[in-house]
Amino acid sequence: MAEATMDKIVSLCKRRGFIFQSSEIYGGLAGSWDYGPLGVQLKNNIRDFWWKEMTQMYDNIVGLDAAILMHPKVWEASGHIKNFTDPLVDCKQCKSRFRADQIDLEAACPNCGTKDSFTQPRNFNLMFSTHIGSVEDEGSLIYLRPETAQGIYADFKSVVQSSRVKVPFGIAQVGKAFRNEITTKSFIFRSVEFEQMEMQFFVKPGEDDKWFSFWREERLKFYHKMGIKPTSLRWHQHGPDELAFYAKEAFDIQFLFPMGWQELEGVHNRTDYDLSQHQIFSGKDLTYLDQETNERFVPYVVETSAGLTRNVLMALSDAYEEQTLENNEVRTVLHFHPAIAPVTVAVLPLVKKDGLGEVASKLDKELREDFTTFYDQNGAIGRRYRRMDEIGTPYCITVDYQTLEDNSVTLRYRDSMKQIRVSMNQIVQEIRTATKNYKRVE
Ligand code: ATP
Repeated sequence: MAEATMDKIVSLCKRRGFIFQSSEIYGGLAGSWDYGPLGVQLKNNIRDFWWKEMTQMYDNIVGLDAAILMHPKVWEASGHIKNFTDPLVDCKQCKSRFRADQIDLEAACPNCGTKDSFTQPRNFNLMFSTHIGSVEDEGSLIYLRPETAQGIYADFKSVVQSSRVKVPFGIAQVGKAFRNEITTKSFIFRSVEFEQMEMQFFVKPGEDDKWFSFWREERLKFYHKMGIKPTSLRWHQHGPDELAFYAKEAFDIQFLFPMGWQELEGVHNRTDYDLSQHQIFSGKDLTYLDQETNERFVPYVVETSAGLTRNVLMALSDAYEEQTLENNEVRTVLHFHPAIAPVTVAVLPLVKKDGLGEVASKLDKELREDFTTFYDQNGAIGRRYRRMDEIGTPYCITVDYQTLEDNSVTLRYRDSMKQIRVSMNQIVQEIRTATKNYKRVE
């Protein structure tokens, strides 16, 4: 069994249409990525899985889709204009720029080898700015949001007034965020344009520790349910020097990526910092009235903040496997959980002639109502199975001569490569049940 290396994942993603470098025909844009036909489906499936688990499965979490562009005061209030910075140094010789906390400032420049060539560290704001309207002046300056959370805080009052939610409750949002990252290595891990899946849970002060523990447990369970190997997930607690200035407590869920353990998601106790700041900067009352006790307070917030695009890299890394089969053939397989696999079912006539193509194509059309399918009638059946393994399709249905006699088809499972005979009118139910009971077999 061969391990997933980043090179292998990048190459598979390009070859099979998961992820491409943005504007590649012009030489690419660093830290910017495009999701191809299979990549967008995988990303959407992970997003939908998260959305269902984080909204539908709780009776006290509602959704929101706030705008990317917000009033610039939002970022003053949140502290991003002042504090959302990395310390940077430039090499005076080759003009390369580095994060001061990521290189040895006493050593030679890693790019050109010159000694004593670094400038003093300067703080560099990670927010992208642009201008709104027709006049480019100070007053028209706005930012691309660096996180989705602030949209949730800014809409807190509107949601409370319109949705009959009662503390404790959560607001969930998925969307794009932008950061002018200086080091954008490791494929899509750290990009300048990415997507986040965030949920802000508003609680009564004093109950925050309890909810913080609750959400830590729930979030780890989420990844187990998504089929990620439990041994590739661990907690990392932020020490005093890592903790954001507003946070009371913070834990990251780390995943064992091909380049090592790295942050996948943060669970943070953000106290009443954000809502209090927005009260001050907006002049609006953002307190909550508990109608049972008649108490009024600014809620504390427990945040769960995951990268969607980083989840895509996790799903690919976790799923990737090269197996050497008995005949010494190497099978590349992606063990995606069927709930997130870009294609759920492949429909393959054994041969296209003798009416098998027609029967298979009719079955494929019927299955499209329930699943994402892929129809393929060309080439040897073994090769078609391999192609499906390589993109992580959990189920292949083969229509053969027996189908014409008894209406049954072969159902092949990706992980075990086991094949069973199923009647065509049972197939939807069979796939649904297999998906519900899915356990990864290696
Ligand atoms: P880091 O310290 O790695 O820069 P962070 O602690 O600033 O990350 P958060 O602000 O807590 O990250 O963001 C929450 C989540 O958003 C992260 O766990 C990660 O999954 C995702 N994320 C943050 N920045 C990026 C990025 N540049 N590219 C892709 N995903 C990101």
